[in-house]
Amino acid sequence: MPTTRALIHAPWSASKVGTALRCPRLFHWKYIEKIAEPEVMPETRIGKAIHKALELALMGTPIPEATSTVRAELPSENEQLRFDRLGTGIPAFAHRISQFRRSRRVARQLVEYSLAVREDLTVTQFYSGDAYYRGVLDLGYLFEDDSIALVDHKTGVRLPGTSIADQLAGYVVLASAAFRHVKRFWLGVHWIAERAVEWGPPLLPDQVMDKIIPDVMDNIEAAALAVSDGPRTNPGPWCDRCSYRDRCPASKELRYEPVEYDEDDD
Ligand code: SF4
Repeated sequence: MPTTRALIHAPWSASKVGTALRCPRLFHWKYIEKIAEPEVMPETRIGKAIHKALELALMGTPIPEATSTVRAELPSENEQLRFDRLGTGIPAFAHRISQFRRSRRVARQLVEYSLAVREDLTVTQFYSGDAYYRGVLDLGYLFEDDSIALVDHKTGVRLPGTSIADQLAGYVVLASAAFRHVKRFWLGVHWIAERAVEWGPPLLPDQVMDKIIPDVMDNIEAAALAVSDGPRTNPGPWCDRCSYRDRCPASKELRYEPVEYDEDDD
């Protein structure tokens, strides 16, 4: 069972856990004080736009219409051009998915599908007060042979040393609770910039029960522990993408650290 420390900050999600582990100060502003993000990073906006375009395309909107609708909402030409570059992979991905759907017996498609569980891993509503862990699945397919494919769209670069199962562990926890009949979990990461879908080996329910669920629950406990000492700052490379960096003294020190001047270098 979760500790009180973990229950206090529920509902958790994969990104909330990641935030707590990276920077308790950011966690505090975002999830405890709930201060609206003072600055939204262009990467975040572009990532959301690509996700939205993929969602529309997979739900049947013609791709030119899906991309142009979303593109028009980006605030600058520079961001629109970056969106265009990433978006070139959308038609190929949609084509692959339609071929794949023709060749497999798909019982159900899940697009931007919200899932939540209570602390005992029973299913609840996403916004319910008893949700302990929750997430929104980018894309999933339930097959008639009682297997499921879970796909996460990523606009960033590949993280070395992180397995597919690590990256999709939260989805697996949620999907295993919601679709209890599933006997095999296929996990894929759609690397949008590289126009590639990378699949891991399939997971069986015993592996989910014995490894994935305990790992996710342990991570939540580690995240709760990390923020239990209060809102200490933890500057690092992630500060570049922090929406609150302008109000953070640690980030200013990191970015504007005075360089020692040495006349011999002149
Ligand atoms: S700028 Fe860095 S140290 Fe400051 S809150 Fe954001 S992530 Fe934390």
